[in-house]
Amino acid sequence: MTPFNVTSEFLCHQCIMGHGFFGEYYQCFVPTETPQCACNDHIIQTRQHLLLSCPLYEHPRHHLMKVSPHLDQCLLFQSKHGWQAILHFLCDSRAFLKANATPLVHDPG
Ligand SMILES: [Zn+2]
Repeated sequence: MTPFNVTSEFLCHQCIMGHGFFGEYYQCFVPTETPQCACNDHIIQTRQHLLLSCPLYEHPRHHLMKVSPHLDQCLLFQSKHGWQAILHFLCDSRAFLKANATPLVHDPG
């Protein structure tokens, strides 16, 4: 397994399970962290916001728009190509990583 695979699996798990370094999770489980998105103090940083509309991740969103130009969630989450695009988005954007996070390193031990 390469570091890329570990990172993409980690990010994918956070996206699917909703447990991770983003406001929606912080709002429920980590009251010391702000749930607002860095793009706008009035927006809660949800998974949907990060994937589909946050202006901070507009550039990596091109991976998603190649599969679904209108960001149809059914198409993205229910097809192999959609999941591949989501993985590329997650790795390029680092949207679900804690701020100042270092890349994960695979430890085979
Ligand atoms: Zn945002």
